[in-house]
Amino acid sequence: ATTTVDDKIRMRTAVLAQVSPEERLALLRRPVLRSDEMIAKVRPIVDDVRKRGDAALLELTAKFDKATLASPVLLPPFTDAEALLDPAVKAAIDAAYANIRTFHAAQVDGKTLVVETMPGVVCSRFARPVARVGLYVPGGTAVLPSTALMLGIPAQVAGCKEIVLATPPRADGSVVPEVLYVAHLVGASAVLRAGGAQAVAAMAYGTQTVPKVDKIFGPGNQWVTAAKMLVQNDTDALVSIDMPAGPSEVLVIADHTADARFVAADLLSQAEHGVDSQVVLVAVSLSDEQVAAIEEQVDIQAHALSRVDIMRESVSKSLIVRVTSVSEALEFSNDYAPEHLIMHLENAQEAVTLVQNAGSVFVGPYTPESCGDYASGTNHTLPTNGYARQFSGVNTLSFQKHITSQEISRDGLQGLGPIVVTLADCEGLDAHANAVRIRLKAMAESS
Ligand code: NAD
Repeated sequence: ATTTVDDKIRMRTAVLAQVSPEERLALLRRPVLRSDEMIAKVRPIVDDVRKRGDAALLELTAKFDKATLASPVLLPPFTDAEALLDPAVKAAIDAAYANIRTFHAAQVDGKTLVVETMPGVVCSRFARPVARVGLYVPGGTAVLPSTALMLGIPAQVAGCKEIVLATPPRADGSVVPEVLYVAHLVGASAVLRAGGAQAVAAMAYGTQTVPKVDKIFGPGNQWVTAAKMLVQNDTDALVSIDMPAGPSEVLVIADHTADARFVAADLLSQAEHGVDSQVVLVAVSLSDEQVAAIEEQVDIQAHALSRVDIMRESVSKSLIVRVTSVSEALEFSNDYAPEHLIMHLENAQEAVTLVQNAGSVFVGPYTPESCGDYASGTNHTLPTNGYARQFSGVNTLSFQKHITSQEISRDGLQGLGPIVVTLADCEGLDAHANAVRIRLKAMAESS
């Protein structure tokens, strides 16, 4: 697969030691997301569904997904889907389901934390599932059972009572059988055949047939993302979302032990997502020849892959950062806060201890990101755009919330009460102070 000079698929290169602090900041930046503009565009769609419910939903599904439906919702059982599946695909979905379920079931917080903070003052904390959740699985024509697994399994093991899975239907009104089969596996209570902002609005507010949910999860295009941001700020909807979502990204750190073919393949597996995908290679003390070998592999492999045109664009916007040590590499990576971090390093396991910000980490030469994307067990719904600084990826706790509780004995209140009275008086909240004083007085009178 030799290519002409003009057709070569190349990344940009920066030598970290030679860039200014301003240039370094620019290297860390992602393409700008125009969220305000998109929110203004989705508002009429969201308002229409909120006001007119199913009628609006069905019109928008006819317009955008070319599907004419009598009703947007399918109810269980979804057992018919299984017969339509290729047996190899069904077996792969089953194997992925088992691994993802094992890892997410282990995360369920089923313990009550009990702490006596002072004598007679007992504080506790316990988890409960979010009762009703909405899971958005993108794509009318795309087949994305992996996203359905990644959202449905933690909802199932957390014990969510109502699991609504939304996905745009095909033009004949059907849902791809792979996704419907996953809806069956995770025990979805309804499948909403709608996409984009209208699906998000239907789940946020509820319609005549779509149950209203408490929290909305899942990736999607900019219409989906903007609608999620809009409804989470509407107190009428009283709904939350998993996290802000942006184009997918990977940062690969490679040293002299890395196999150029593996590094290139990992970079390209991310670059195929879309023209906005972000791909960064941090090269640790590599010679010019070693960097050239990776670049050569990127070019050769990209030309042999089906999405070469997407990769041509995403790779050309991507970056090679040359550094001289593993600690310098991790410092850059932590500042970048990648969604996916792959480490092709001699001591990759040791380097994990240096990771401060990342969505999910892939350690060593035999751990391609693809495994985490589909079936190792970890979740693939992860924070992008640098949000790995403050957000975790979707996990079982995303489907639970914690409730705290306290019980104070008579003796406990004797000890704690005066402290609270002093603080309440200090804040000028005398009703607060009174709720304690009235009890202390009653106790004094009865003793
Ligand atoms: P999608 O389901 O996100 O969006 C389809 C919907 O977009 C349609 O149903 C329609 O309602 C709406 N829409 C499209 N054009 C519109 C317009 N002009 N006006 C109003 N609404 C419009 O599917 P998609 O578009 O194929 O995008 C999939 C997205 O999901 C991509 O951005 C991809 O990167 C992302 N993705 C992420 C993951 C992950 O897990 N991180 C996996 C797969 C896909």
